[in-house]
Amino acid sequence: MNKYNTNIKTLSCSCLDWQESRSQYGLSDPRRLCKHIIKKLDLNNLAFEISKFKESIKFYQEKEWGGLKKVLIKSLN
Ligand SMILES: [Zn+2]
Repeated sequence: MNKYNTNIKTLSCSCLDWQESRSQYGLSDPRRLCKHIIKKLDLNNLAFEISKFKESIKFYQEKEWGGLKKVLIKSLN
């Protein structure tokens, strides 16, 4: 169903968004998460590195991608 090859263990995706911009960020950086990765993440089984962004990820899964960046930037401060 998903035409992109998304790996939630390594937080990587074959989409253009990820390949062109998100791949440069580390595993503990929420900017690494493209919308495909976020959709696939299991909130109750997040990797330690991104577990602190659980609320932001939850927010996105319930809403849409639009407001996530602002929320994530807030949670980084
Ligand atoms: Zn993607």
